[in-house]
Amino acid sequence: MDVTATRQEIARFIDGVIDTIETPELSGDRLERFNASVVEAVRDYINPGLLENRKSVAEQHATAAVEWRSNGPNTLTDSRGNEYLDCLGGFGIYNVGHRNPSVINAVHCQMEKHPLHSQELLEPVSAMLAKVLAALTPGALKYSFFTNSGGESVEAALKLAKGYQAPRGRSTIISTIGAYHGKSHGALSATAKPFFRRPFLPLVPGFQHVPFGDIKAMRQVVSDHERMGEPVAAIILEPVQGEAGVIVPPDDYLPAIRQLCDEYGIVLILDEVQTGFGRTGRMFACEHYDVAPDIICLAKSMGGGVVPAGAVVATEEIFSLLFDNPLLHMSTFGGNPMACAAALATIRELIDRKLPEAAEENGAMMLDGMLSLWKEYPDLIIEARGKGLLLAFEFSTNDVGYAFAKGMFDRGVLVAGTTANAKSVRIEPPLTITPAQCRHALNVASEVLETMQAA
Ligand code: PMP
Repeated sequence: MDVTATRQEIARFIDGVIDTIETPELSGDRLERFNASVVEAVRDYINPGLLENRKSVAEQHATAAVEWRSNGPNTLTDSRGNEYLDCLGGFGIYNVGHRNPSVINAVHCQMEKHPLHSQELLEPVSAMLAKVLAALTPGALKYSFFTNSGGESVEAALKLAKGYQAPRGRSTIISTIGAYHGKSHGALSATAKPFFRRPFLPLVPGFQHVPFGDIKAMRQVVSDHERMGEPVAAIILEPVQGEAGVIVPPDDYLPAIRQLCDEYGIVLILDEVQTGFGRTGRMFACEHYDVAPDIICLAKSMGGGVVPAGAVVATEEIFSLLFDNPLLHMSTFGGNPMACAAALATIRELIDRKLPEAAEENGAMMLDGMLSLWKEYPDLIIEARGKGLLLAFEFSTNDVGYAFAKGMFDRGVLVAGTTANAKSVRIEPPLTITPAQCRHALNVASEVLETMQAA
């Protein structure tokens, strides 16, 4: 089929795709034709640049890895039946593992009953989830607005903060160097990656970026803005910067930021899109530091790796901006009952199976092993770092980082560089990863590094 296909041809093509979806395994010619047609469709109809971007899995187009099935909670297979231990976790989607049965069951039951909302009657599942989030999130966070992604949660948080602060004459938003908050216009304005920003300048006005982890720099910028008559409305931060390559700030950073915000009446937005729901060894990363934000951004693993789901949760004082006009900020699909059912089941799994605790324990073991590898291969590795199961190696160059990720992939362990570079390689497995699987990943890493050293 090509772009000139008739409606009938399109329908018959879809029949074939649906038949493939319904087929448990492919083999022989059918498998080869399917793989080739996926590579062609990605190249010709999604983006040819993607094949270059994912070159560790698609370098040889004829043998490109085409994903097919999540196998167990921590593994997936490609269409040829090759199994991969997932140490990437969809960059934080799979905290409760792949195809978690409780999440699937909740979503399935909701789907059979009433998959999406009427938009007029009161939707019960989102109401219950909001109640759960108020109890689960730290401090006085209480009211939820539901979204479908991290970027949307950040947008909602920025609008809430701006709307709340407008009558107070505060409008400047401070973000941090290296920050990643998403790529929609507002979120991109808070994001600090030059190559993502440059083609779209000017972005939303009123954003400033200061070095991450540096409380002195933050204090200075806040006080300068006070004196200039452009006082700060909000500070937005990731408690641990994820896309920057897993940058953990000093332990006293977040408490000092909280104090600074309290001193000036600044809204503290914590973007826990990647760090939330147990990833760093606490339900939310800010709990490591005993800090509660005024607004928290959530997404990624909130839908249990089954349905996209996100939320922004705020204190009553800030959220009350929307009380008079609940339609001031809206989303058609945000808070849909399938996503909320997935989120409820996800939270129950995290609590019942003590997955944040498991992340802390297995993360400490992984980091120990990574620190040993750093000692053993100081010419290749510049640093090993992280918190819980949000971990990273920093390699000497992009080429070395790429060779490591490729070597791991070739031996059946998925890891990947950040969206910004190949030098920092993140290790972010499902929190359900077993100690034996952690040891296996470390052994494979050791084998790959040994081969690289010898080369
Ligand atoms: N915030 C953080 C901290 C993230 O890590 C990400 C995604 N990597 C986002 C926001 C954006 O999320 P999404 O891609 O779902 O819009």
